[in-house]
Amino acid sequence: MMHSKIFKILYLNIAILCVGSNNLFAQNTPVEICGYQHELEKIIQKQPNYLALQNEWYRKANEAYIEAQSTKRKITSDTIVYEIPVVFHIIYNTNSQNISDALILSQLNELNLDYRKLNPDTSRIRPVFKSLAADIKIRFILADKDPNGNATNGINRINTSRTTFATNIYGSYSEDMKSTNNGGQTAWNPARYLNIWVCNMEYPSYIGITYGFATPPTGSPNWAQFQSSTKDSTDPKSGVVLHYKVVGKNNPLAPSNYKEANTATHEVGHYLGLRHIWGDAANPNTQGCNVDDGIFDTPNARDKNYTCSNATWNSCVDATNDKPDMTENYMDYALDGCAAMFTREQAFMMRYVLNNFRTGLPIRTIVYDTTTEYSETVVSVYPNPTKANDPLTVVVNTNNVSEVFSLTLFDNNGKEVLQKRIQANQKTEVATAVYSVGVYYLLVKDSKGNIIKKEKLILNL
Ligand SMILES: [Zn+2]
Repeated sequence: MMHSKIFKILYLNIAILCVGSNNLFAQNTPVEICGYQHELEKIIQKQPNYLALQNEWYRKANEAYIEAQSTKRKITSDTIVYEIPVVFHIIYNTNSQNISDALILSQLNELNLDYRKLNPDTSRIRPVFKSLAADIKIRFILADKDPNGNATNGINRINTSRTTFATNIYGSYSEDMKSTNNGGQTAWNPARYLNIWVCNMEYPSYIGITYGFATPPTGSPNWAQFQSSTKDSTDPKSGVVLHYKVVGKNNPLAPSNYKEANTATHEVGHYLGLRHIWGDAANPNTQGCNVDDGIFDTPNARDKNYTCSNATWNSCVDATNDKPDMTENYMDYALDGCAAMFTREQAFMMRYVLNNFRTGLPIRTIVYDTTTEYSETVVSVYPNPTKANDPLTVVVNTNNVSEVFSLTLFDNNGKEVLQKRIQANQKTEVATAVYSVGVYYLLVKDSKGNIIKKEKLILNL
C-alpha cells in the first residue's frame, strides 16, 4: 500500500461518512473514526517495507495459532487473565474537556466487559458468529503507582494552553498530546503502562475531527529496526489517543452513535496488534477482497462498514466457508448498535502481542481462569486470589438467558460453606469477608446438575 493512496482512501471515507452522518454534532464536519491509516502512513514513510514485514509477523503468529489449535490442550490451558495497568492523561483546556472520574471509570469498565466477553450486547451477535466470539482474558486496571513510585489513582490531569490537538485529516499529523513540551503529557514509561491520552482532537472551525488512533506494537521486528532496540515497546508514542467526547459510557457530549464507549475498545485492539477487519486495502473497490487483515476467522470484507442494518450483507464472496461481513467485530467501523465481539484468533493475536512484543507491561496479578475455550457457556470468576474482604464476582455467560445455575463453595476440608443461585449473564457477588484466609473450591452446576466449572480459589489473601 503506497502512502499516497492512503490519502485518497481517507478522503473517500470522509466523503461517505459525511453523507451518512447528519446526526453528528457538527453537521458537515468530516469525521475520522480512527486514525490508524495515518499511523500506517507515518510508519511507512520511515520504513517503506513496513507492510511486508508486518505480513511476515502475522504469518508467524498464524503459524503459532495453527500449532496451538492442533494441540487443543495448549489453547484450552491458556487460562491466565492478564492485567494491564492503564494511565489516563486528561489533557484539557476547557472544563468540558476535563471529563469526570466517573466517565473515565465507566470507560475502564466497558473495556473490561468487552475484553472478557462480559458485555451484555453479545446478544447482538448473529448465530453464524456466536461460536467465534472470544474472551480475550485481559483486564485493565488503573495504575496505582506513577513512574516515580508515588501513589496515583491512574488519572493524570493536565491543564494546557493548547485549544486543540487536532490531527489534520488532510495531511499533517500531530502527536503533540504525547509531549509535555508541546502542551501535552509525555508518556509514562510505555513499556510499563498503557498510556491513554484524552484530549480535544477537533480541528479549528470544524474542518475535521479524529475520534481516536493508536500505535501498533512497536516491539515487533518491523518497528524495532528504526525505533526500538528492545523487545519492550519503549517508543514514547506508544499508546492510545481518544477524543474527549467519545470517552466513557453515555458521555453527554458524545454524538448519538458514539455513546457505547466502543472507540477505546477498537483503539486498544490496534495497540494490541489488530488491523481493521477489512484489511485496509489502498483501493477497496479493486483490491478490497484480496487484502486481508491477517486473521483467519474474520470473514473477508471489501471495505469498512458503518452500519449493520443489512444482516446478510456480504461484500466478498469466498469459494469456501463463505460468511457475511462481520459487522459485530470491534475492528470494523459499525460501532454503536453493532459491535460486540472479537474472534478467537484476534484473541490469540492480542495475547501473542502481549507475550512477544509488549512483554514489559506488568502482569501484576495472575488470575487463573479455567474457562474451556470450546464451551458455549463461559464461567468467569474474578479476582482470584481475592484481596482481604474484596468480594468475588461470578458470571455465567450463556445463550440461554433464563438459565439459572448453582454455585457451591467448599473450604479446603471439603466442607460446604455457601450455596447461591446465579442467573445467566448477570454478575453475582460473593461476600468473602466472613471467610478466613485460605484455599477454597468453587463449583458451578447448570440446572440439570451438570458441573460446568470447578475452580480452586484463594480468598482474602
Ligand atoms: Zn481503527
